[in-house]
Parts: sequence; structure tokens; C-alpha cells
Amino acid sequence: MYLYNSATHKKEEFKTHTPGRVEMYTCGPTVYHYAHIGNLRSYIMEDVLEKFLRYEGYDVNRVMNITDVGHLASDADTGEDKMLKGAKRENKSVMDIARFYTDAFFDDCAKLNIKTPDVVQPATGLIDEFIKVVSALIGKGYAYVAGGNVYFDTSKLDHYYVFNDHDEEDLAVGVREGVEEDQNKRNKNDFVLWFTKSKFEDQALKWDSPWGVGYPGWHIECSCISMKFNGEYLDLHCGGVDNAFPHHTNEIAQSEAYLGHPWCSQWFHVHHLNTNSGKMSKSKGEFLTVSLLEEKGYDPLAYRFFCLQSHYRKGLVFSWENLDNAAGAYQKLIKRVAALREGDGQADENAAAQFKEKFLTQVGSDLNTSMGVTCLYDVLKAPVNDATKLAVLADFDRVLSLSLLEKAAALREKEAAQAKAAAAPGGFTIQGEGDPAIDALVLQRAQAKKAKDFAGADRIRDELKAQGIEVTDVPGGAVWKRV
Ligand code: AMP
Ligand code: ZN
Repeated sequence: MYLYNSATHKKEEFKTHTPGRVEMYTCGPTVYHYAHIGNLRSYIMEDVLEKFLRYEGYDVNRVMNITDVGHLASDADTGEDKMLKGAKRENKSVMDIARFYTDAFFDDCAKLNIKTPDVVQPATGLIDEFIKVVSALIGKGYAYVAGGNVYFDTSKLDHYYVFNDHDEEDLAVGVREGVEEDQNKRNKNDFVLWFTKSKFEDQALKWDSPWGVGYPGWHIECSCISMKFNGEYLDLHCGGVDNAFPHHTNEIAQSEAYLGHPWCSQWFHVHHLNTNSGKMSKSKGEFLTVSLLEEKGYDPLAYRFFCLQSHYRKGLVFSWENLDNAAGAYQKLIKRVAALREGDGQADENAAAQFKEKFLTQVGSDLNTSMGVTCLYDVLKAPVNDATKLAVLADFDRVLSLSLLEKAAALREKEAAQAKAAAAPGGFTIQGEGDPAIDALVLQRAQAKKAKDFAGADRIRDELKAQGIEVTDVPGGAVWKRV
């Protein structure tokens, strides 16, 4: 596939260090609150990317951290620890908060058909590893102790700004924002690897270390977790675009200084979900969650569909009107799938292969998910039998994960139950082989007869006959069987 690489600012052919295997890392959530649907936009797009690579035949090892310590309110080492903030807000312990919101995150992911990564590692579970790497960085001269904390010395690097789509002034905003300048830093961009002089006396989680009791900085966790579970060469690193600086920039600095060779070859950044008032963010307080969408009657997968309709490298504007449009289109799509007849002959292998080739090219062009969705419509309107359509749609859904066939089956069952209920006053019962689609046709025929639309009733009987179904009228209902 071709993928835009934020480190080289080019679309490149995707390559891996070990042929056939992808070492993939994703920055996980900071579990001090519910994930908002903006965070989940990033995870949806990363999920499609992982599934597409698997679809292409790669063996993927996907690793994700859970940030349960050390992420301060500003990404540039200032402000309060976000976890502590969450614990205070809810009057609970930091670990209780972490457990609760980690579970909530994976519940939301499940509702959005986001697969759980192969490895999920909370930061608090790997402190010894962080201490090992920080010690080595000091040993190699890349880190120094000042005022009790350990800092990474960015002046030791040949170049620090990697994702320099913006000028240095813009990039430095993360460091300057809300500043209370840290006097211990030797250089403006130096960052904390290990805190002992916590700005908060009540920092809940602390560990012993060679530099005193303290806790890790945020950036070190991702480098260490990836190096431990993905190995020394990372093929693909993902996150929202706000993570590019300083978080990912700092990850590269530490990892390459530690390893002594280039670390990650491809960087995938998802652009933001915005509202009319700007980027959706947890710290603003007001944000939308999957549960809220459900409360308002939306199927979470309609939100996934909404995300797939736009490209990950463009900002996406959320509005209820936009979501309504996506939800309507998703419902119509399911209806069209539900109208396809199962068991309609053999799938046409040649036609299926052609559809697949087009899907691979389209989605493989920098993860063009909206073209992937267009491929679904192309299949639906193609002059091939329903068996082929169903097989191809199921195949594409391994990547898009819109539960197309499952939702269609549920819709058919619902419609059959509704039709049954509608016919109930006359006490009409159907005995058959438990196929809701056939039951629905048998009922339609009975209703046509009741309405004295005998031509319509005969048409349905012929349609059933063509499918090998024989219907016999019995008192109060009908019996059908395959002949
Ligand atoms: P956090 O839980 O704040 O550490 O963020 C989890 C993930 O969501 C990170 O990859 C962020 O870059 C990403 N993210 C944060 N805000 C948004 C947004 N409004 N739209 C898309 N992704 C976001
Ligand atoms: Zn990270």
C-alpha cells in the first residue's frame, strides 16, 4: 500500500523491516476520563489501517500503551498530572480511575468494532523498564539530572524537529503554552524522563529509582513499551496529529539515542475531529462520548461510517446534521444488503477477484476509506448475482468493519417479526424451516390474498417457487418447505 509518512512528508510505498510482518504501535488513551468521539476517530482510522494490512496478508503485531501515570495537563511537562486530576474530580484513587476508564475505553471500542491490539500495556506495569532506559540514556550522555529530575538533553541530537511541516515557532508552542518555565532545563526543548521534584506533593503513584522516589515522564512510556513488545525496529507508529509534537518527537529522540540507530520508519497521524468551536478535547470539559450518541438513538457504527467517509489526513467537522446524514446513508446501505438473497447460486470468483483488486488499489492509496465505502456501492449495483455480492461485501467488511451482513440479518428478522405482528389479528401462523426472508414472502402473499390482489399473490408464489419453495395454505396460516 501507499501511505503518507509524516516523517518524510511524502506518500511512500509501505515497507517493513521484516518482510511480511508489521510491527505497529499506537499511542493509547490517557485514562482519566471517557474517550471522546474525537479520540475514537483516531482509533477507528488506526483500526482500519491495521485490518487493511492484515487483509493484504501481513502478519501484524499491534502494541498499545495505556497512560495511567505521568501525562501532565500540558504535553510539555507542565501542569497537573491528568490522572490525579481525574481522581480528585471523582474522589477516587488513581488506580480506580485508571481501571474504570480503561474498561470504558475498550467498551466503546467494542461498540465501534475497533479490535483490541495484540498487546495492551499500562504504563504503571513497566516502571523497571523505564528506569533501565533512563539510566542508559544518562550513561550515554543524552540525559542529565537537575533539581532532582532527569531531563533529556536535546542539544545532543543532530536534529530534533522531525515532523517539520510547521516552522519552529509553531512547533515550540507546546513548550511555551501555559509556561511556568522550568529553570532546570538546559535547553528550551529538553523534557522530563523522570520526576522526583513533583510539583504536587500529593502525586499518588511513586516508585523508587536511582534518582529518588518519583514517577516517569509521559514520553518515555511509549518508547519503552514499543521497544519491549515491537523490538528495536518499528515499522509504523500511529496517533492523533496533536501527538506529533512534542510527544512523538520526544519518543524518537529517546529511542534513537538509546538504540543508536534509526527506530521507526513510518509515522501515521490522524487529523482532528473538530466542532464549530475547534478541536474536540477532554480538557475543555464538554465533549461527546459513544454513550451519548447511543442515548440520542444513534448506532455507534453510524459514527464509524461517518468517519470512514472522510480522509484521515483532513480535519473532520462534527455536527448533528452531518451525523444524521451518515446515519441515514448507513441505514440505507444495510437495507440494500438485507434485500440480497442468500443462497442465490454460486459466487462468481472472477468477478469477486476484480472487485477485490479495485478495493486493494483504492484503499491502498493512503488509506482512502471513502473510496472503500464507494466500492461497497459499486458491488451493490454491479450486474452479478446476489451470492457474489454477499461474498464480496463480507470480504470488504473484514477491513471496514461495518457489520454489514450481521446488521442486514437483524433487519430482515425485525421486518419479518413486524410483518408477523401485522398479520397477527387474523391469527396467521407460518410453519417452515426458520428462514425469516422466506417467512416474510409467505406473509406478503397471504396479505396480498387478503387484499384480493390475486395477481400479486401469484407473483410471490412464483418467486418462492423459483427459489425452490412450495407453499401450502392451511387453516389459519401456511406451511412452506424446500422441494
Ligand atoms: P489522549 O487520551 O488524550 O492521550 O488521546 C488519545 C488519542 O486521541 C491520541 O492519539 C490523540 O492524538 C487523539 N486525539 C485527541 N483529540 C483528538 C481529536 N479531537 N480528534 C482526533 N484525535 C484526537
Ligand atoms: Zn505515545
